[in-house]
Amino acid sequence: MAVGIWVLNDQLDPMQAALASSTPAEARVVLVEAEALLRQRPHVQKQILFWSAQRHFAQELRQQGWTVDLLEADGHGDALAGWLEQHSIDELRVMEPADRPIRDAIERLGIQCRWRAPISWLANNHFLWSPEEFHHWAGSKKQLRMEFFYREGRRRFNVLMDGAEPLGGRWNFDQENRKSPPKGLQGPPPLWFEPDDLSAVVLEKLERLQRVHNLPGLARPFRWAVQRSQALEVLETFITTRLAGFGPYQDAMVSGQPTMWHSLISPYINLGLLRPLEVIKELEQRGLQLDVPLASLEGVIRQLLGWREFTHGLYHHFGADYPNSNVLEATAPLPSFLENLGGSGMACVDTVLEELAGSGYAHHIQRLMVLTNLGLLAGIEPQALTAWFKAQFVDAHDWVMQTNVVGMGLWADGGRLGSKPYAASGRYIKKMSTYCKGCRFKPTERTGPEACPFTVLYWDFMARHQERFRKHPRMALMIRQLERISTEELAAIRATAAGFEWAQPGQPPCS
Ligand SMILES: Cc1cc2nc3c(=O)[nH]c(=O)nc-3n(C[C@H](O)[C@H](O)[C@H](O)COP(=O)(O)OP(=O)(O)OC[C@H]3O[C@@H](n4cnc5c(N)ncnc54)[C@H](O)[C@@H]3O)c2cc1C
Ligand code: SF4
Repeated sequence: MAVGIWVLNDQLDPMQAALASSTPAEARVVLVEAEALLRQRPHVQKQILFWSAQRHFAQELRQQGWTVDLLEADGHGDALAGWLEQHSIDELRVMEPADRPIRDAIERLGIQCRWRAPISWLANNHFLWSPEEFHHWAGSKKQLRMEFFYREGRRRFNVLMDGAEPLGGRWNFDQENRKSPPKGLQGPPPLWFEPDDLSAVVLEKLERLQRVHNLPGLARPFRWAVQRSQALEVLETFITTRLAGFGPYQDAMVSGQPTMWHSLISPYINLGLLRPLEVIKELEQRGLQLDVPLASLEGVIRQLLGWREFTHGLYHHFGADYPNSNVLEATAPLPSFLENLGGSGMACVDTVLEELAGSGYAHHIQRLMVLTNLGLLAGIEPQALTAWFKAQFVDAHDWVMQTNVVGMGLWADGGRLGSKPYAASGRYIKKMSTYCKGCRFKPTERTGPEACPFTVLYWDFMARHQERFRKHPRMALMIRQLERISTEELAAIRATAAGFEWAQPGQPPCS
């Protein structure tokens, strides 16, 4: 019986379940470079990364003795039908995709394109918690909170533990990790790579296709790692040069410094080039050896063992309807400055968008406190913003986007993921960044020509949703502050908000 293994583009790991189920002597491997995906207009750097990493992975598998076909095609369906036929494949093995819509699409294609072989699905082994294990942990808990899930993960995988207790006597050092950036703060330079010959071919192909499909972003300089050995170097560089400083300025944003002390490993871990447990264990072991401050070490481990696994677990636990959540009834369309990656006139937004255009990357706080904060305050329709994020970021996949954008960023799920909305005015951005210095708006102003759009929309948001949040334990204080604003001033704020044609100001309360 001839076995075929289809490796999806985020499964680039020789130990992934479908490859692990067979041997080079028993099976033939296929990967597909499908141009049809470009119709969703992904950032050109994301596509270069995906295709180049795929080509490098095909090369690595061939070196390990596998017979590998890399199909350059328009769509997956016909290309795979032809390949199955040509090699008389009787069974097609695929590791379960992490993204729910992809499994559905593959099953549809198999029927529509009359694939000759049935698909055998193998359980995805790229996460530490399977959807079933997460479901079991969630049980009948009324509220699912990351902190408790994370503690369970620390115990289960024995990470930063001292017997049954957390190392250092505390589970969480977050309070020590929220410093504002002092003047002149500069993070260490990140590790980047020059494209090799394989990447250069992909780069040229995508520069040509960028014109055809009008892909956003700049193709050059392309500097991402595209193979496991390089991704391991990025991890090593993070450990030796950035890990110790990760904690204190984790929430800071500085103009001209798009990466700060962040690890830059998300694209690699999401593509399968790095494995989550190996990364966590390496961080723990080396971090302790190097005497890295526990607040920094615990901080980054919480992101991986906590947030990454939690968002993945929730994505499956909440089910297929979760993306339709929209409890705040947000309906504003995507602003053109997001589509164009610039031109908003707000220094914070334009700085992040300019950096995003050049790399397909922005760090966590830029994503949360600038981009989705704006989306939350302006009432941008959740799936419009999610689709934008999915297209623009090198590390974006459905499983990680839905929970992060719909849940964490926009609070469209009404608090199923996070207890309160991450709504912040220009004052927060001023405190945590250097952006406001170069801006034509003033973060403290909420009316008039210099009023900061974040500050204006913040109060407009509170006014729009005051009934919902009046009794909310963590929002009631903001509503009380809203009530101290005079009727005249609030009317002026709301009139200014109504002037942003890209936002969704609601009707003033009728009381
Ligand atoms: C609106 C929004 C959109 C996001 N979109 C993505 C996305 O498309 N893909 C993605 O991998 N992450 C996403 N995140 C989470 C986080 O912002 C990125 O993982 C992180 O910025 C990647 O950069 P880094 O590797 O330098 O991360 P670091 O700051 O160095 O963090 C280390 C690692 O922790 C993990 N991590 C941290 N926070 C999260 C989180 N909330 N969810 C999942 N993993 C996390 C990542 O694997 C990351 O590489 C999003 C967060 C928000 C608020
Ligand atoms: S003043 Fe407002 S718009 Fe300008 S950078 Fe600061 S927060 Fe952003």
